Amino acid sequence: MKAWLLEESPGEYRFAEVPTPEPGPDEVRVRLVASALNQMDLWVTRALPRPPLPHVPGGDGAGVIDAVGESVEGWAVGDEVVINPAISCRACPVCLSGESPLCASFGILGEHRWGTHAEQVVVPAANVLAKPEGRSWEEAAAFSLCALTAWRMLRRARLAAGETMLVVGIGGGVSCAGLAVGRAMGAKVYVTSRDPSKRDRAVELGAAGAFDSGEDWPLKAQVVFENVGAATWDRSMRALAPGGRLVTCGGTAGSKVEVSLPRLFFKQYEIIGSTMGSYAEYTQVSELFGQGLDVVVDEVHSGLGAFPDALARLEAAQQLGKIVVRH
Ligand SMILES: [Zn+2]
Repeated sequence: MKAWLLEESPGEYRFAEVPTPEPGPDEVRVRLVASALNQMDLWVTRALPRPPLPHVPGGDGAGVIDAVGESVEGWAVGDEVVINPAISCRACPVCLSGESPLCASFGILGEHRWGTHAEQVVVPAANVLAKPEGRSWEEAAAFSLCALTAWRMLRRARLAAGETMLVVGIGGGVSCAGLAVGRAMGAKVYVTSRDPSKRDRAVELGAAGAFDSGEDWPLKAQVVFENVGAATWDRSMRALAPGGRLVTCGGTAGSKVEVSLPRLFFKQYEIIGSTMGSYAEYTQVSELFGQGLDVVVDEVHSGLGAFPDALARLEAAQQLGKIVVRH
């Protein structure tokens, strides 16, 4: 098959012919119709982290099953599927308790194993669900990783209908999914961005209001949704209402932050970490997707060969929503 291949890290991708992977007994192989980009596609080229090499990137994709392992039941060649990129052993006590993101062997498609920026990908059969009718291939490729991440974040933050929520730094896939999932959960969702056009677009997408990242944020939110990190941390903490919860899944603009302990305990704040999601959470968010959850597709690039153009847009941080490659 053709695939984007990373042979050293730090390094650059090369469009290469590689052996087509064969599914193991409990795996399926998917011929990808579309894949979507994530920051991980850049990080692995900078050895942050260094993946097992050679490596094929891509955490998000959707396509058609073209081979089925001998023990797999319930799936057949020709089935149209979305792919859950959060992979764990599904057998240890942690997995069996439903907390698979805490499994010792937890891994992410396109980071710990070959991903979706290729003609085909092999995943455990447990990691595919039927593509909902009525959603496009581009949306199906775009929703998984970010919607799953946002769904678990907001469950862990106990977001309730009617609460006020703030998404810090709208633009990337996770923050757009935070806006969509927060609205689906019945919250009033505000956003911040430095970019006026992204603020306008977020309001069009249903944000209750949008603030300039560099100015005061005139609100107190029960839940602050963070993945920026050091650059916004202090203002994110100050945007919490008493008893508020700050939930974070990343620090794209700095990973070390300071916490004022008096502010933390007097105001009874909670700081909550979260990453990816469990198998049950993927099923839940896929049902939301089937019911019409907003998926913001920024740009669609035509042909697997166009991956470098898509990657350049991601690197320039120009996007609002997901950058998709239609294979
Ligand atoms: Zn496990």
